[in-house]
Amino acid sequence: METTITLRLPALPAFEAGWVWLVGSGPGDPGLLTLLGAHALACADVIVYDALVEESILELAAPGAEMVFAGKRGGKPSPKQPDISARLVRLAHEGRRVLRLKGGDPFVFGRGGEEALTLAAAGIPFRIVPGITAGIGGLAYAGIPATHRDTNHTVAFVTGHMAGGEVPDGIDWAALARGAQALVIYMALKHIEAITGHLIAGGLDAATPVAVVSRAATRHQKVLETTLGEAARDVVQSGIEAPAVVAIGQIVSLRAGLDWLGAMEGRLLDADPLGRNRERSTG
Ligand code: SAH
Repeated sequence: METTITLRLPALPAFEAGWVWLVGSGPGDPGLLTLLGAHALACADVIVYDALVEESILELAAPGAEMVFAGKRGGKPSPKQPDISARLVRLAHEGRRVLRLKGGDPFVFGRGGEEALTLAAAGIPFRIVPGITAGIGGLAYAGIPATHRDTNHTVAFVTGHMAGGEVPDGIDWAALARGAQALVIYMALKHIEAITGHLIAGGLDAATPVAVVSRAATRHQKVLETTLGEAARDVVQSGIEAPAVVAIGQIVSLRAGLDWLGAMEGRLLDADPLGRNRERSTG
């Protein structure tokens, strides 16, 4: 039976002509959009969106809104960042309400800062609407918390990819191996072998739990659970695909108790995924 509910919304700011709103769409599920994000979709005249924005979110655009794709398609190189920024400036100068829509959060490995700086330099007024980043919300859809009192007091968000496609050389992998209790790596699949190799060489135990969460918070979500030592091989063997976030550390073990999506499909959850109570009762 379907019931009709009325969603009561707080007062939201007007989307003024000549403004650019830089909005994060979240990792996939349209239900994870913020109210400001949904409001922007309903009001914008033109929407400049990336490849990571789910189709079901684009469908929330007002009828008649102009849709401009600014991502990579079919292996072709993506539009150059300066071209995208220049386009945003031009559209705003035309007096349009410009929605720049990005996957996840615009300020997390999303180049939102660069685009906003270009707008600032051009004197274009803009608003930033944060979104749920894949490295937190996407992991949550796989039943993996970014932090948990029993496993980690720190978490590092890392990019596994530089603009040119190589493993970032500015990252001190050995320091991460020593210091980070949990690692969440974006854009990691292509270089998974190099990355896991650097971390093991830096002293991280090869048995450390790893989860690869592909297309998180979409219908196509897949999760590969493995270990640091076996991740590179398992990624290839499983054929798991980008976009994916890679979680490394004991937080991954919590999935046995927190895989709420799995539970909806009949998975039995382990209420003691870290074995704390078992240890206590036997020790
Ligand atoms: N701004 C985005 C990140 C953009 S970088 C955010 O905050 O989430 C692109 C990388 O983000 C991808 O390579 C992948 O590592 C990650 N990512 C984005 N959406 C994802 C999703 N639905 N599932 C898994 N990983 C995702």
